[in-house]
Amino acid sequence: MTSESEFSWNQAIDFQPLTTEPSASVKDVITLLNQSKVSYVLIVEQGNLLGIFTERDVVRLTAERQEFTGFTIADVMSKNVIYVTTSQITDIYMILDLMRRHRIRHLPVLNELGQLIGIVTPKTIRKVFKPADMIRYRLVGELMETHVIQASGLTTVLDITQLMAKNKISCVVISEINTEGENNPIGIITEVDIVRLRAQNYDFSSTQARVVMSAPLKPIRNDDTLWFAHQKMEQHNIRRLVVIDSQEKLCGIITQSSLLRVLDPLEMQALIQILQQTVDEQTQQLQKKNQALEREVKECLLMKEIVSKNEIEYRKIAEKLQIANQKLQQLADSDSLTGLANRRYFDNYFQQEWKRLLREQVPLSLIMCDVDYFKNYNDTYGHQFGDECLRRIAIVFQETIKRPADLAARYGGEEFVILLPNTNLEGAIHLAKVINSRVESLHIPHISSDVSNRLTVSLGVATTIPQLNKSPQTLIADADRMLYKAKSAGRNCVKFI
Ligand code: GH3
Ligand code: MG
Ligand code: MG
Repeated sequence: MTSESEFSWNQAIDFQPLTTEPSASVKDVITLLNQSKVSYVLIVEQGNLLGIFTERDVVRLTAERQEFTGFTIADVMSKNVIYVTTSQITDIYMILDLMRRHRIRHLPVLNELGQLIGIVTPKTIRKVFKPADMIRYRLVGELMETHVIQASGLTTVLDITQLMAKNKISCVVISEINTEGENNPIGIITEVDIVRLRAQNYDFSSTQARVVMSAPLKPIRNDDTLWFAHQKMEQHNIRRLVVIDSQEKLCGIITQSSLLRVLDPLEMQALIQILQQTVDEQTQQLQKKNQALEREVKECLLMKEIVSKNEIEYRKIAEKLQIANQKLQQLADSDSLTGLANRRYFDNYFQQEWKRLLREQVPLSLIMCDVDYFKNYNDTYGHQFGDECLRRIAIVFQETIKRPADLAARYGGEEFVILLPNTNLEGAIHLAKVINSRVESLHIPHISSDVSNRLTVSLGVATTIPQLNKSPQTLIADADRMLYKAKSAGRNCVKFI
């Protein structure tokens, strides 16, 4: 909003007012007014203000059918001119207030000595307020004059002038009835036109309005801003605009004076309210956006929390699942009685290691182990004790084989196999002997054994470097053969190829 500090009030004064001497003829003054396109003339004698003569006076005198020939301006001017002295002026609002209270559009300014120095008019004030933001926010519809006097184009200019004088208005809109029976504005006659017509010696009583009116109209919409109205007035150098609504129907008139009304303290209050409302609305919108953002952030955090909780849960479940899977796999791969690898697992592993060592061309050894006189044991001590024996023998295997690649498996019944990749015959025999002696060292009584009074095992050992033309089964067959040899040799011993 424009503030006092942005301009000083004397910017609102035109220091070169249009003046004339009291002895000037009315005719000359009207010509002067018409030529200079100014709405007034001040009558001055030696710097002293004697009177004022305005367009409105031309209208009034014309309406009264006053002839001007032979009259001086001193005869027809308004004498008791309302003026202001520079010392009285406090600010621009004081000037506006004075003009508003006296309903005048021209306020001469005198200096301390009573001499004329300038004049304030709506036009000069409007110039000062040119950048006024306030008129950007107000709409034409809010400040326009809605009481518009209209007349038909066939009306004489004299009648028009009388209408203006009677209603104390500065213009009459000329309209015609269109085919739909509606009043259609086609032109306008203003005080300026009256001055012009008088200057050009028109016959007012015989000239029709439609002949001399200003046309076409340069209408403005009621929802345009006052700023736009101001610009349009500047552009066309006119002081009033016809206002139409969205249906293009005449709904009012906006004048320079209307524009100045926004400077009225009450109007300014209204503007401040509008601005406040705008600010409030924007603040509200911002708050709403803020709240929405806050909600989103909260939702995000919540989601994050849920996700991270889920993630933890998921990891836990995944771990459990992995463990369960491992267990399942172990179950699938192991022998339930001894916990050693089962036959299925052994078969796969054997194939895999055979291929690997085939590439590496290193020895692969196999020990086959069978419990001696185990049928007798079961018969003597019962199957449950027999099972326990198998479990204890399994532990001996696990404690004896050390390398990660070594594998002990239950081959079937009371027969076991021990696969020893990367192990030569010597190493395998050594291990077989260790097993043989450790089983004996378990001191499991076996009274129905023919070879010992304790539980014993026989072992067959075979070693080979895998070859393409050899089947893995040959190694098993060799070890089996050696086991048979150990049995034949009396049991509780190790035989090897
Ligand atoms: P040998 O010294 O010639 O090997 O005599 P053996 O009696 O051990 O031989 P055989 O193959 O005739 O008997 C094997 C026995 O092993 C038969 C069965 O009673 C016993 N056996 C096989 N699997 C199991 C098992 O899972 N638990 C128990 N308790 N005994 C088993
Ligand atoms: Mg057997
Ligand atoms: Mg046996």
